[in-house]
Amino acid sequence: MTDHQDTDFADIVRPEINGLPDYNAGLARDRFKARYGVECRAKLDSNENPLGPSPRAVAAIMAGAENVGFYPDAATLTLRQAIGEGLALPPQHVVTGNGSEDLIGAVFRAVLRPGDHVVTICPSFGLHEFGALACGATVAKYAFGDDWSFPVDDMIKAIADRPRVLIFSSPSNPAGPAISEADFDRIMAALDADTLFVFDEAYVEYLSPEARFDALGRLKASGLPWISLRTFSKAYGLAGIRVGYALCANELLAKALMKTRNPFGVNALAAVAALEAFADTDHVNRSVAATVSERENLRAALTARGFHAAPAHTNFLFFKCEEPGAAFAEKLRHEGVLIKGWLEIPYRDWARVTIGTPDQNAAFLDAIDSIRSGEKT
Ligand SMILES: *Cc1c(COP(=O)(O)O)cnc(C)c1O
Repeated sequence: MTDHQDTDFADIVRPEINGLPDYNAGLARDRFKARYGVECRAKLDSNENPLGPSPRAVAAIMAGAENVGFYPDAATLTLRQAIGEGLALPPQHVVTGNGSEDLIGAVFRAVLRPGDHVVTICPSFGLHEFGALACGATVAKYAFGDDWSFPVDDMIKAIADRPRVLIFSSPSNPAGPAISEADFDRIMAALDADTLFVFDEAYVEYLSPEARFDALGRLKASGLPWISLRTFSKAYGLAGIRVGYALCANELLAKALMKTRNPFGVNALAAVAALEAFADTDHVNRSVAATVSERENLRAALTARGFHAAPAHTNFLFFKCEEPGAAFAEKLRHEGVLIKGWLEIPYRDWARVTIGTPDQNAAFLDAIDSIRSGEKT
């Protein structure tokens, strides 16, 4: 058989897709030892909950295993009803998906025409940019202020040109800050019905009390097209089972997502796990409290070592390295610690570390110290 080159079939693939970078995913734990020859001491590269899921969710997965011969409910109605009840929305305005990443793609596929404009912030969550590029849109990114305030003036100017979509996360991944109430209100006031506002709230559970305001209430009252995205992957500790959800301004937008998402994307085990996890608010509260107190300990320890970290309302810290973040992350991997080096210009000297258990965070700091002592000698 002839060995074809990787470039041979490039014309088959759409040029927008050929031009995209690979997804900057964390490394799966079972791949780690084969690649680095050491045990993984701390997996802090994907913002998972170190306490894992609610035991109720695990029990539901075990009990549900005997039903996996059947297709799941394509409408995932029981889960959508529970979410709708919890957030005072009709279930017809709630769409579940195979993680909220599936729904980001579904939103773009539903609304973007080739040549459309999308506005987001920088540093950005990769899919907010690449998902739009994959649909043939152009993407404008605006950088946070030096004080890590959201680039509201820039976004308001950009909104005046009526982009098809405004999308950003708050609290922000990868940076950590959350948008203020006043800034949120200024953006809402600038929007009109030509632009879909996609508000990615993957870390909403980690918002500190003083930064909380009723963003969902404002969206509901706005009369504008909006979608808020949330996930079971972070505070709920269910990253491996893949469930996220979209709250939509109306049923028309929700129906559009139902058509463009993967139809059976929420599998039978995921549906029952998410339902139990959503009900177990104690587990979420415990997870968030543990993470927030550890986060500030870790911030202090990084500061003591000369690293600056951005303010955070999240389960991670974004900090400046003294070298490319990817190179720093690679050194840590040889010490058994996984973090994510950032690849986006101009944040290539930054890295993101997930807040783990006290032991995992200690392993991270220990790895930094041993790299530094090795570099001195
Ligand atoms: C983690 C994350 C998501 C989604 O994750 P899923 O596992 O696909 O639900 C979406 N947006 C942001 C900003 C995230 O950090």
